[in-house]
Amino acid sequence: MSTIEEKRHTLAHLLARAVLEHFPHTQSTIGPVIDNGFYYDFDFSRGNAPGQADLPKIEKTMRELLSTWTQVVGTEVSQKDARDRFKENSFKLELIDDIASKGEKITLYTAGDFTDLCRGGHADNPAHDISPDSFSLDRIAGAYWRGDEKNKMLTRIYGLAFDTNEELSAYSARREEAKKRDHRKIGRELDLFTFSDLIGSGLPLWTPKGAIMRHELDRYVWELREKHGYQRVTIPHISKKDLYETSGHWDKFSNELFRINTREDKEYALKPMNCPHHTQIFARKPHSYKEMPQRYAETTMVYRDEQSGELGGLTRVLSITQDDSHVFCRHNQVHDEFFKIWDIIDTFYNTFGFALRVRLSFHNPQEPEKYIGSSEIWRDAEDALRSIAKERNADYFEASGEAAMYGPKLDFMATDSLGREHQVATIQLDMNLPERFDLTCTNEKGEKERVVMIHCAVMGSIERFSAVMLEHTAGNLPTWLSPVQTRVLPISEKYDYYAQEVLKALADAHVRADIDDANESLGKKIRSAKTEKIPYVLVVGEREASDKTVSVESRDNGKLGALSLTDFIIKIDEEIRLRK
Ligand SMILES: [Zn+2]
Ligand SMILES: [Zn+2]
Repeated sequence: MSTIEEKRHTLAHLLARAVLEHFPHTQSTIGPVIDNGFYYDFDFSRGNAPGQADLPKIEKTMRELLSTWTQVVGTEVSQKDARDRFKENSFKLELIDDIASKGEKITLYTAGDFTDLCRGGHADNPAHDISPDSFSLDRIAGAYWRGDEKNKMLTRIYGLAFDTNEELSAYSARREEAKKRDHRKIGRELDLFTFSDLIGSGLPLWTPKGAIMRHELDRYVWELREKHGYQRVTIPHISKKDLYETSGHWDKFSNELFRINTREDKEYALKPMNCPHHTQIFARKPHSYKEMPQRYAETTMVYRDEQSGELGGLTRVLSITQDDSHVFCRHNQVHDEFFKIWDIIDTFYNTFGFALRVRLSFHNPQEPEKYIGSSEIWRDAEDALRSIAKERNADYFEASGEAAMYGPKLDFMATDSLGREHQVATIQLDMNLPERFDLTCTNEKGEKERVVMIHCAVMGSIERFSAVMLEHTAGNLPTWLSPVQTRVLPISEKYDYYAQEVLKALADAHVRADIDDANESLGKKIRSAKTEKIPYVLVVGEREASDKTVSVESRDNGKLGALSLTDFIIKIDEEIRLRK
């Protein structure tokens, strides 16, 4: 049986052949395999070009031809023979000369009546191996020849291909679902954030509801941190250039730095990260080994000057809120501190139902010039991280060459409800900044000892995490995180007094609630509460008012019927407290 890559590759040939059937004037160029299928680039400039509406007929031709492709046969040819064969196709001629100039073999592959220049890797018997309903043509796009904008613009036709029709359908359904869950769309529906042309792209503004969500996320991370001895610090958002010259960011971040010139001609910058500022809090006084580690944390914005073409929604922004922390500790404390942070990360991501996988990003010993610090320090640090991963029975893998210049790190990948993997938290061990800022503690022998730093942001950035989480939950935020946790709906004005009584009881219990007393039908109000994804709707009328009950409709579990107001409050309070 053939591999999926071989099938996709063969389908790219089949696409080229089918396009020629309908557009004989076309010049086919190259057609590689991609993650979900394949594509092929064509030059149609000698005649008509196909549109999206032509894809079904090309697809139909592919299926007809497929049954005649029972083998794919390769032959090696000379440069001259290859050039003769493709003399009408300037793109193939360029490829042939390229291959020849590298001294590589030139091979042609033939299936049915179609021959293409190719390195090989096809299905043995396409008619047998490839199921005719396992692929479909997807879309048309423009692409430059060889990806270079100085070259000619070609037409790219994309195809989707999987082993079976079921996999193809599942993929298409997942993609549709992802579109529906776009966090920009959900953000509008839930009224969480907005952008203003006057302020600029990449600078999200958080609405009252969005601010509640951010605050709740941050409060949760704080709760987890406090158990492990983290302390709050606060720093200004700008600094003299000197700080970033010492830290090395003035050079490393030069393009992304927002610079400020003062009226006294001094150079300042908006902070692109918090670590350099935090080192100066640690450095304010000498520390005995008894005071180590020092754990500083702060949720604060950093600013990076990204190119405007790269900005979109919350995933790429200029003002980034980091839930940042820096632990200053001794080498022999690294293991315990990593362990604690890992606990925080596990608890936090488990709450949302994300599965986590961990990459141990190590240095490449073959390229010592890329890293700072002795090989013993690196070995010890990496051994420590590996042993933690083993001790925790984590789903982990090692990646050589992925370390930061200044130390190894743990990169966490979260798989969301659509099966997509996102890089989320990282824990970084840093042996560089303590060196640059000369950070020490006094050890048991009364000597100065170099400390190390551990950087960690649990959410990474609140903006990016919110985007991932909104798409993961499709906007159905857990109750503890919902800006409005309960909506009270009086069935008529007559029961407004009781609705107010319910609202007051909820407020006293710290449940975020509101009343919809608009002049609309009950059905319409229930629908709008659903659009806003409010976890609970409480309908109140005559019976509820006289029995002191509420008729509960849950977003996730449907109608729960009448509950006494007290019982409902006990139930929702527990759900919020335990972050269910
Ligand atoms: Zn091929
Ligand atoms: Zn840092």
